[in-house]
Amino acid sequence: MPVLRIWPRVSDTIDAILGAPSPMRTDLDFDRDGKQIGELQLPHSPHEDAWGVIPLPVAVLRNGAGPTALLVGGVHGDEYEGPIALSELVRRLDPKQIRGRLIVLPALNAPAVRVGRRTSPIDNLNLARAFPGDPHGTPTRQIAHYVARELLPRADFVLDLHAGGSSMEIMTVALLGHHGDPDIAARNEAAMRSFGAPLALAGTPGGGRTLIAAAARQDKICFAVELGCAGRVSPTALATARSGLAGFLAHAGIMSGEATPYTGPLWRIAGHDAFVYAPAAGVFEPIRALGEDVAAGEPAGCIHDLSQPARAPTQISFRRGGLMLARRAPGIVARGNCLAVVTAQVISV
Ligand code: CA
Repeated sequence: MPVLRIWPRVSDTIDAILGAPSPMRTDLDFDRDGKQIGELQLPHSPHEDAWGVIPLPVAVLRNGAGPTALLVGGVHGDEYEGPIALSELVRRLDPKQIRGRLIVLPALNAPAVRVGRRTSPIDNLNLARAFPGDPHGTPTRQIAHYVARELLPRADFVLDLHAGGSSMEIMTVALLGHHGDPDIAARNEAAMRSFGAPLALAGTPGGGRTLIAAAARQDKICFAVELGCAGRVSPTALATARSGLAGFLAHAGIMSGEATPYTGPLWRIAGHDAFVYAPAAGVFEPIRALGEDVAAGEPAGCIHDLSQPARAPTQISFRRGGLMLARRAPGIVARGNCLAVVTAQVISV
């Protein structure tokens, strides 16, 4: 009996989106041996420039047959360790040092990277909430679509290097996306562990709209890493990025060397009450530091109303106990801002 569909399934919609060609172009040849450093060009026609393009930096390093790793930084423009480490890798590596291929996008949402902001100054969109994108959409959506349609299919491994960004302090942590196939899930976990981040979390925020979610839909071996935070460059996290890239590329069989994998437990954000949100506007005074164990009901800090000195601050409590994974970086808060993410619990060893 035929099935009547009154609304397309998400998978049908994604197939239709990825079936449409991208307006983006590049002069780089993804199948040529050697090192090429150039750009992806996104046609853009604002008031100032009728027939111009937005250039996005890209490098391709190839040495014969072998696996392909897609290495991405700058999905958010205020997260710097990934872009720095990836640009360094592109400059330093001789293609003869690898087997297979690296496709490196160190500053993927280039307009956002140019101004050091999480979102693009052109369309105000967050690229980590834009997948699978839209070839007829705004620039951020077109970038997501190009990656999902043109680059993910060429990759065996996908690594998305993030940080906490301007608004958040977060522990350096590798993030493992969900995959329903146990074999692929195990390979994802092994790849994630090979990076050697000091902590590992099962689950990524952003639902199906992230680069890693798009890579998982195409059965790519993929994970993300949160490196530094608060819109700064962290030398410690940058060192982790460098050693992690080397370990992961050795694990992938693209570079020689040995990984120093993370061997600890996987952690998980256990539920919505793991997040502490601001109940009022003001200035947040945190109490607990990243990495500390906190208990449900314990004070997380308070929000001061600096315009009313006679008013007592609003006290904030943790709703669930666990490891203090992340907290807000700027003092000023609006209602609903995320103040802390505390609940991470061991799910396997
Ligand atoms: Ca990020």
